[in-house]
Amino acid sequence: TNFQELGLTKQLVAALFALGYETPTPIQEQAIPKLLEGRDMIGLAQTGTGKTAAFGLPLIEMLIKEQKRPDNRTARTLILAPTRELVNQIAVNLKAYVRNTPLKINAVVGGASINKQQQMLEKGTDILVATPGRLLDLVARRAIGLTTVRYLVLDEADQMLDLGFIHDLRKISKMVPAKRQTLLFSATMPKAIADLAADFLKDPVHVSV
Ligand code: AMP
Repeated sequence: TNFQELGLTKQLVAALFALGYETPTPIQEQAIPKLLEGRDMIGLAQTGTGKTAAFGLPLIEMLIKEQKRPDNRTARTLILAPTRELVNQIAVNLKAYVRNTPLKINAVVGGASINKQQQMLEKGTDILVATPGRLLDLVARRAIGLTTVRYLVLDEADQMLDLGFIHDLRKISKMVPAKRQTLLFSATMPKAIADLAADFLKDPVHVSV
């Protein structure tokens, strides 16, 4: 199987080829077609399996097709991750995939200048990658609104729970529209994650590698 057979357009496949991605990894093979169908997803996968591209590529594909610019101080896609390092790594990867598209990707994390982040979000963004605490600080300042979010990703959900982000996640889930596509990835699936998934996701496809 190649990326085009999974449903990605030539433009995106060409960008991947330039990055040395020729063959989809197992989680990409499982996830990409289902996500393009609009399904919610629970993914049991560790870092190193290619999970960032597994959720990032179909989201990018759908955003390209929508051909909409974000309004000021809004985001169309929200990706939440537990640490600065992971947020930045996700953003670096996604930026490489969108290099030939007009899509805008921004990362916001704690410990960096919130004023700068506020300025960065002024014109809106297509994909916002964030740690939950900093996101809520920016929402409180009205630097970003979440009512236009159509795609929500919780990455490394088990780590987010371990770090005590559960209340932040529940708050954020009330700010995004109910009508959305939601993806949850986790390296482990304890009961707390299954409960969270039951609350946040609708009829999800399960993938695991
Ligand atoms: P991740 O599991 O998302 O952290 O990805 C692990 C590494 O594999 C990253 O450096 C990606 O750039 C790389 N990668 C992801 N998918 C592919 C692929 N299909 N072909 C080659 N490299 C990939």
